[in-house]
Amino acid sequence: MNPSLSSKKFSISERDSDIAKLSDSEFELLVIGGGITGAGIALDAAQRGLKVVLLEKKDYAWGTSSRSTKLIHGGLRYLKQMEFRLVHEVGTERAIVHRNARHIVVPEKMLLPIMEGGSLSKNMSSWALWVYDWLAGVDSSERRKMLNAADAAKAEPLLRRDGLKAGGLYFEYRTDDARLTAEVLKTAVNFGAICLNYAEIIGFEYNSENSIKTAVVKDKLNGKEFKVSAKVIVNAAGPWVDTLRALDKEGVSGKRLHLSKGVHLVIPREKLPLKQSVYFDVKTDKRMIFAIPRENVTYLGTTDTNYSGGIDNPEATAEDVSYILAAVNEMFPRLSLKTEDVISTWSGLRPLIHQDGKSVSELSRKDEIFMAKSGLISIAGGKLTGYRKMAEKVVNLVCKKLDRKLDCGTKNLKLSGGDFETNEALDKFYNLRCGQAKQISASQQDIKLLLNRYGANIDLIIANAFDLYQREADPIKRLLLAELYYCIEYEQVARLCDFLIRRSGRLYFDRPALEGQYHFVADAMAKKLNWTADETKENINEFEAAYNSVLAFRNSEKA
Ligand code: FAD
Repeated sequence: MNPSLSSKKFSISERDSDIAKLSDSEFELLVIGGGITGAGIALDAAQRGLKVVLLEKKDYAWGTSSRSTKLIHGGLRYLKQMEFRLVHEVGTERAIVHRNARHIVVPEKMLLPIMEGGSLSKNMSSWALWVYDWLAGVDSSERRKMLNAADAAKAEPLLRRDGLKAGGLYFEYRTDDARLTAEVLKTAVNFGAICLNYAEIIGFEYNSENSIKTAVVKDKLNGKEFKVSAKVIVNAAGPWVDTLRALDKEGVSGKRLHLSKGVHLVIPREKLPLKQSVYFDVKTDKRMIFAIPRENVTYLGTTDTNYSGGIDNPEATAEDVSYILAAVNEMFPRLSLKTEDVISTWSGLRPLIHQDGKSVSELSRKDEIFMAKSGLISIAGGKLTGYRKMAEKVVNLVCKKLDRKLDCGTKNLKLSGGDFETNEALDKFYNLRCGQAKQISASQQDIKLLLNRYGANIDLIIANAFDLYQREADPIKRLLLAELYYCIEYEQVARLCDFLIRRSGRLYFDRPALEGQYHFVADAMAKKLNWTADETKENINEFEAAYNSVLAFRNSEKA
């Protein structure tokens, strides 16, 4: 059986024995950072047969990889910057990432309205979308279609009519960034990688030739320190790449990061009931933003502003919120969305590479590798979409350093939960599971939601729900527990926020419902993980801080 598809336990109950293994032996590769970049590198290396460990200072995908626009896309806007190679590379990767994880990378129809005075003319858009499809090698069924004004208005009745000249329909892919990261990590673990969250690198030790040999690590769950030795160390710490470089003897020299903040707003679907995703110009500055329907909400974003605040907790400000709402109200004038309509937000930091004299929106989104004299390899920039290709590049370099000839095997590697050769096979699986849903009093919508999160692994969640049938009479709570127990056993959920924010996305996409749920989930976790009363309280406090943070713009507005 392909090990990527088996379901190996991945739980904090194995933490002590994993840490013992770390201290016992030397690894070929240590990856710092459990975002999509680090996860992709760990998977690629483990699949080639290298002995790999990945350490993450908080939870997996806690950084930028849970705060993106959540699209696997070729980057239409990069055509404007003439970045043809980037569009080609990420465009080709889109199809590969979809094929290997059909459950969480789903085709998404996009409408590009062409407005009087907008940044793109109809001919220019038609050409750009054609080039975009061509560079990405898009299937004929998904190629762009140009619409006249009447058809564009029919495709999206909420669009502004005056000034609407035409529209372009084309395909991208929608995903969940944190879930994609989790599936990549689970696959890496199935190939033998050791991955630990809440393990922060706090220093390095060197051999007599001044090469990095060992990382000093702080266990954030108990405060203890331990050491990990590896022949090669890769710094995939996203916005913290320079913080890690500064821990190295060489410090930050040459190229450095330039952080840009991007904010997203979440609106109830009934207040912004779009028929499909729309990608449109902001009238005031000609930037482009997305409006993307998902489950019971529509989310909007993003901004792109210089950021110099604390890296750990960027927040949406009142100014960010009014910028996005003004753009949306301009494009969909019948809505008049207000600040009170925003039910959640998230803010992420793009780890871009600084270029003197360039504004933040002009900076390239390409990835770059920095090689330090100590041997530390740092990777920054890039996109969620290109994670597999970035990993291939880095692991090729690692293999060269190790003098090992091992080929990359991730191009046709199905990710955990994604064992479906075609979209029809995924539909068939869904229909069969809907049959079982009745027996656990779940709705078809529940199954759809879980399938999009966990793919074929929902069988383990359904099995949990059967086990819980006698113990928990409320079907909503039963399914919630079944999902939680799966995440604790198979996705290394260690804290309340891990489950409510990143594994299930509830804080962003279902925040109002959480008010009545988070104490219940905290109690269930306390029982399962043997938390003391203080530990339970601490988890609740941390979650409440995150809950308040997504609504912090309401306070900055009053200030
Ligand atoms: P991160 O996800 O930030 O991961 C780095 C990890 O390193 C963190 O989890 C952090 O905790 C950990 N770490 C830091 N220091 C230490 C330490 N000392 N010890 C251990 N661990 C440490 N790309 C797309 O393809 N599509 C999109 O739609 C898209 N939209 C975006 C929208 C926004 C607003 C932003 C900001 C980015 C977007 N991107 C998109 C880009 C994409 O999200 C990023 O390129 C990607 O998530 C970066 O992943 P990463 O793993 O490099 O960084």
